[in-house]
Formats: sequence, C-alpha cells, structure tokens
Amino acid sequence: MPPTSLPARVIANLIDGRFTPARGGATISVYDPATGALIATAPDSTASDIDAAVESATNAFPAWRTLPASARALKLRLLADLVERDIDAFALAESSDTGKPIALARTIDIPRAIANLRFFADAILEDGAEAFENAQSSSIIHHRALGVAACISPWNLPLYLFTWKIAPALATGCTVVGKPSEVTPLTAWMLAERTVEAGFPPGVINILHGRGPLAGAALVSHPRVACITFTGGTATGESIARAAAPTFKRTALELGGKNPAIVFADAATPAQLQATVDGVVRAAFTNQGQVCHCASRILVAREAWDAFVPALVERTLRLRVGDPLEPTTDIGALVSGQHLLKVAAAVDGAVRDGGRLLCGGARSDASTLPERVRSGAFYPPTLIEGLPPAARANQEEIFGPVATLIPFESEADAIGIANGTRFGLSATVWTSDETRAARVASVLDCGTVWINSWMVRDLRVPIGGMHASGLGREGGREALRFFAEPVVVVRAKGK
Ligand code: NAD
Repeated sequence: MPPTSLPARVIANLIDGRFTPARGGATISVYDPATGALIATAPDSTASDIDAAVESATNAFPAWRTLPASARALKLRLLADLVERDIDAFALAESSDTGKPIALARTIDIPRAIANLRFFADAILEDGAEAFENAQSSSIIHHRALGVAACISPWNLPLYLFTWKIAPALATGCTVVGKPSEVTPLTAWMLAERTVEAGFPPGVINILHGRGPLAGAALVSHPRVACITFTGGTATGESIARAAAPTFKRTALELGGKNPAIVFADAATPAQLQATVDGVVRAAFTNQGQVCHCASRILVAREAWDAFVPALVERTLRLRVGDPLEPTTDIGALVSGQHLLKVAAAVDGAVRDGGRLLCGGARSDASTLPERVRSGAFYPPTLIEGLPPAARANQEEIFGPVATLIPFESEADAIGIANGTRFGLSATVWTSDETRAARVASVLDCGTVWINSWMVRDLRVPIGGMHASGLGREGGREALRFFAEPVVVVRAKGK
C-alpha cells in the first residue's frame, strides 16, 4: 500500500522569524497533480510583503555577515540534520506537490537538498582570503558578502534547487529573501519551519510565497536587493535581467535547454546497446522529462539507427506510468493539468509539422491508471521522428516527457545539429571511443557534457548554461563568489 496523500495545509510566509499570511489576505490554491486534490493554500504575496521581508533581511545582514563562518556553517548543518530527520515527510510533500514518483523524491530530491546544505557549510570553511605578492606589493582579496540575496526557484526540483541557492548565500554571509515556485510551495514552507527550529536569527532567511509577476517581480526590482539568483524559464530570465539592470544587481540566470544526446554507432553495438539505451531513456524521461538537463533531442548515427531506435522504443514502452506514491512507478504526473496542455499542444504541433510518433503522443488513458490517480495529469513518454533539425519541436523547450529522434551522417554533422539551437545548457555523448568523446566535448556549445552518463554530479564543479540557457554558474566556489564582492587591500613593499 502506498502512503496516503497529504491533508490540505495552510502555508504561511516566513518574515522576520514569524509566520504570517499575505498582508492582502489573498491565497493561491495548490493541487496534487496526480489526484487533482487540494493539498494547500499559500499566500499570494504582493509588493508590501516583499518590502517587509527585504527590510527584515537588510536589518539582519550586518550581524549575520560578521558571524564567524564556522557559526553560519553550524546553522546550515543543523538545518540539514532537521531535514534529514523528517526526510519521509519531505519526500511525501515533494511527490504530492509535483506529481513526481515518491521514490525519486526520497532518493534524489530530498537527499540532494540535504547534501546542498552540508556541502556549502563545508565549502565556506575551506574558502578564505586570497593573497598575491610581487616585487612592489602584497595584495589580499577579501570576499565580502553582498547583502540581501533574492533566491527564486522553479517547480521541477523544488527543494533541491531552492537549497542550491540559499545555502551558498547564507554560507557567504548574505541574508535571504527566497521565493519558491507558486506551483510547488510545500517543501520550502516545511524548510522555513525547520529554519526557525534550527535557530536562524530572525530575518536571516525569509521565505515568501506568491506568483512570479507579482511577488517575484517586486522582489527582483526591489532597490535593496543586492543580487538575484534565478532558475526558471528563458522568457522569465529575460524579464528579470531587464528588471535588475537599472540598479546593476548581480544576476545569475539558470534557464531552459534543448539538450542533445549524441549516440555514435560504437555505443550501439550488441555489447553496448542496452547500457546506451538505458542511459538515454534515463536522460530523456527522468522526472517526466522535467529536468532542465533532460535530453530532448536524441541524435543517432545513421548506421546505428536500425539497431538503436527499436531498442529505445521498446525500453521506453516498459517505463511504468502510474501512481507517484507507488514505489515501483517510473513516470508520475506532470506538474499540473495546465502544463500537460502545453506539452500536449507541443506534441500535436510536432505531428502537424510532419513528425511521426514512435510511442506516446496523447494524454494517458484514465482507464489504464490506478483508481486513486484517474483524474491526474499523466502523459506517457513520447518519442517523435521525422522532423528536420530546424522544426519547432527540435528548437523549442517542451519540458515534458517528449524527445525527438534525429539521424546524423558524420561527427561534424552531429556537432552542427547539436549546436544548432539558441540554447546551450548540457549534452550527453554516447561512444566507446574516448578520443572522440573528448574531441566532441571540446566543441559542443554548452555548460556541461556528460560522456556515457547523465546528471552525475560533483558539487564542487560549476553548472549552468550559455546563450539562452543562462548567465553565470552555480556550484562550488563559483556560487560562493557570486554572493560576495571581492575587496582588495594592497600594501606597498617597504611602506
Ligand atoms: P518560471 O520561469 O515560470 O518560474 C520560475 C520562478 O520564477 C517561479 O518561482 C516564478 O514564480 C518566478 N517568476 C515568474 N515570473 C517572474 C518575474 N517576472 N519576476 C520574478 N520572478 C518570476 O519557470 P518554471 O515553469 O517554474 O520552471 C521551468 C523552467 O525552468 C524550464 O524552462 C526549465 O528549463 C527551467 N529550469 C532551468 C534549470 C537550470 O539549471 N538551467 C533548472 C531547472 C529548471
């Protein structure tokens, strides 16, 4: 028996260490996309809530940034321990809020959120001033926390990405006004409760809920916000960059992608085929294809097509679409009925443009789903072939369980197609030839290239995209540097 879904909760903002509703009293209804049930109401915050949070964060900043780094790290570690203590409750909330399989939330999302908090607690202790010397001078670079950080996160990996932002901000000495996605506010609210339990001073972390165009827009244009770290869609990133420009706020934008998986023939030999197919299916369909790094264009060497494509379709059809609370489910619900309509429209458009469906292609038939989730937003994994690289489905992000298949004739052809979109987030290269892997990786225009793997991560390395996939990098030292201003103190030799 799966655990039962959540009773409806009343979510509040955390401002200055206290939980409060939106000042205007408005709320947003939050639904479980697998069942359609109301699971929470969240504050529909406006500019006046944002003002109160920014004021509180501004007041808390001087004391927080002058604490020894070890004291800030201790608080982050304590917070991580509290999330770990309640990991099952967090996993259930994340699954109910997003529709993702609870097994994924329990093994990836929440453990990674805990790891983010611990990672930056350790990283700040290993960081420090840098010193340079030459014949004339000695210079010390101090990294001084910027001030109030606006941390805005999306719905696909809610706690995972929210903690990925607030942990380095807090470790560096910034105070935070965080705004999680209005679609998935639950785990950020639960985290807010644990920050109070962990004893973070009031104002150091403020977590507000609300819609992007209202609360989000007020936050990014607020004159006392020093920097913005944002993960979300490319169009939203553009509007945030515009809002940040007049006050020269430092901005990190982690945006959309149209990531290629490049399958060379030597990865589709009888000995390699199954491992490659398994890897590509994981890259395409994990979290219902709603990971910014998901492979959404599968480029296949022409000579490997006949071996690879049927095996890929067969493996995709074996993915179990069903109740996210069943531990054996591979594919849960999309994040909302509204998002499902967008995904379905993109697939319908691809078919109208001449694409041929190899599997999927229409909303899951309710009669194939377990009773509890019959009215949920389920869309099966979908593979489409026959579209030229310039077709809409090969150029625009769909952000669902949909991938296209494109044949290529040569390595140069594959690279041209892979680089032929406005995005540049990540790529996967599937080959048994290490020299080729290195050569191809060196010319792909994207922030991360995974060889025969996907989403294998070392939190010390930077992650992010180029072109329309964003600006700046997160992770490791890059993240700590983002939240700090380098201030150089120079002493002339002999003075
Ligand atoms: P979104 O852009 O609609 O929303 C993201 C966040 O921004 C939400 O909290 C939202 O309320 C807020 N927001 C919206 N409008 C705003 C505005 N005008 N000002 C300030 N804040 C605003 O994105 P989404 O639909 O939640 O997430 C899906 C997108 O995120 C996809 O495009 C996906 O590729 C991208 N994403 C990128 C990465 C990455 O690391 N590059 C990771 C995950 C998701």
